[in-house]
Amino acid sequence: MLGLMQEWPLVCHKVIDHAARQHGHREIVSRSVEGPIVRTTYNDIRLRALKVAQLLARDGFKRSDRIGTLAWNTGNHLEAWYGIMGMGGVYHTLNPRLFPEQLVWIMNHAEDQALFVDLTFMPLIEKIAPMVKSLRKIIVFTDKAHMPATALPNVVAYEEWLADGDDDFRWVDVEENEACGMCYTSGTTGDPKGVLYSHRSNVIHGMMAAMPDAMGISSRDVILPVVPMFHANAWGLGQSAPMIGAKMVMPGGKMDGASIYELLDTEKVTFSAAVPTVWLMLLQHLEANNLTLPHLNKVVIGGSACPRAITEKFEKNYGVQVIHAWGMTEMSPLGSLCTMKPEYQDLTGEALLDVKQTQGWSPFGVEMKVTDDDDRELPWDGKTFGRLKVRGPAVAKGYYGGAGKEQFDADGWFDTGDVAHINTNGYMQITDRSKDVIKSGGEWISSIELENLAVGHPEVAEAAVIGIAHPKWDERPLLVVVRKPGKEPTKEQILGFMDGKIAKWWMPDDVVFVPEIPHTATGKIQKTTLREHFKGYKLP
Ligand code: ADP
Repeated sequence: MLGLMQEWPLVCHKVIDHAARQHGHREIVSRSVEGPIVRTTYNDIRLRALKVAQLLARDGFKRSDRIGTLAWNTGNHLEAWYGIMGMGGVYHTLNPRLFPEQLVWIMNHAEDQALFVDLTFMPLIEKIAPMVKSLRKIIVFTDKAHMPATALPNVVAYEEWLADGDDDFRWVDVEENEACGMCYTSGTTGDPKGVLYSHRSNVIHGMMAAMPDAMGISSRDVILPVVPMFHANAWGLGQSAPMIGAKMVMPGGKMDGASIYELLDTEKVTFSAAVPTVWLMLLQHLEANNLTLPHLNKVVIGGSACPRAITEKFEKNYGVQVIHAWGMTEMSPLGSLCTMKPEYQDLTGEALLDVKQTQGWSPFGVEMKVTDDDDRELPWDGKTFGRLKVRGPAVAKGYYGGAGKEQFDADGWFDTGDVAHINTNGYMQITDRSKDVIKSGGEWISSIELENLAVGHPEVAEAAVIGIAHPKWDERPLLVVVRKPGKEPTKEQILGFMDGKIAKWWMPDDVVFVPEIPHTATGKIQKTTLREHFKGYKLP
């Protein structure tokens, strides 16, 4: 027997309709690319999104067409997102930090038909647009007065284009399982892979992200998503914030410590989210200028492991709660968040920091497990680590175009490529990426744990650990170190510092010093390049 309840489709335009109806005058404040601060409201965002949808349809773009965006977090970008989705299209957020040839590859693979772009990226687009065969129109987020001269065909200023729209348009009636957005993983192994979000997955993820023990946000919050919309949907805040009706503060292209501090202070931001590097810059700015954070209550930190020192400084020196989070593009992206269950609510000091080093637990909507190489489930004992697998309504069930099939199994589990353990209370801790873990004599060594230990040495600026082929043990760890400027720590000093803090057989066989370590477009250590560079390295 079927239930007798309404089939109210979980579609994204209902989110912005709700925001406009219930929180219509709530502000969306943006640092514009042209410079000045721009203020709009959920009402304006919705009306302009309707025009975006109307004009895209009028220009001949169709349901399911991929429409690229190469833009910072601004109100304009947000309304374009809702406009694209509301026309039945698929927003495709592009990461400007990728190499131009990667962007061309991704745009051709997705067959982007149109592109919304910030002024910042016009020189880049001039170079790459002619190589994207499917591209028919480029809409530049600016007005006529700021429009640069360009030799590209079919380019228009956003405000000029929008001026042709009127109120005579209704959202396209899409099904909740239709695609509405896409984002490519950064492709640290092989070609980038496209994740195709549905209306339903975005709506469910948005609700999940807002829950009290997830991000825990409400209409009384002022939310600053520093994490870009092109980095896995700004971690869901583009949906969650309008759903709950919070004021949003959009940082545009400026994410340095001083610029972020200025917005936190002038707009009285209570909640923010970003990768550790951003927070490091902010904390340095606060310390150098003797500043405080009287309004900020909570920050979500993820994308890579949050260093203990960042958590400690935020909580002890500034009274800001840190929520360490883990996720990935394939998960929309949130997978787990480290908030305190009753078992841990009385913890303080180092014991609390220990728990906050974990990536936390999964909210309703994410199932997780760890398995060994034979796919047997491992116990939740806080020490046995294995492959981390996930399932849920906002987790990918395949990649666009069918790549990466081996990561999905028949029972619907997605192999995250991360290696982790989970404790008895459900708190998960990432110990490595499965391709980075070092397999020595049939056992696994966590490269991340060795790196974290090595960067604890006061004269080490950055460290990376990779596996080097070994005739007897299969692989052995090699520690690659960037020294701090003006410092000359030796191999013996660094290994001496690590000695006693890890099992003897985990000790790196050798240490090499390099001027710099390569990074990916999202700031992670590029181990593929390092492995290539040190291929055939002779360990002592
Ligand atoms: P990109 O490489 O483009 O940033 P993702 O955002 O999808 O792609 O990266 C997801 C990966 O980032 C995860 O699989 C995990 O390895 C790593 N990651 C994300 N958050 C954390 C975290 N809090 N701690 C450790 N690793 C993390």
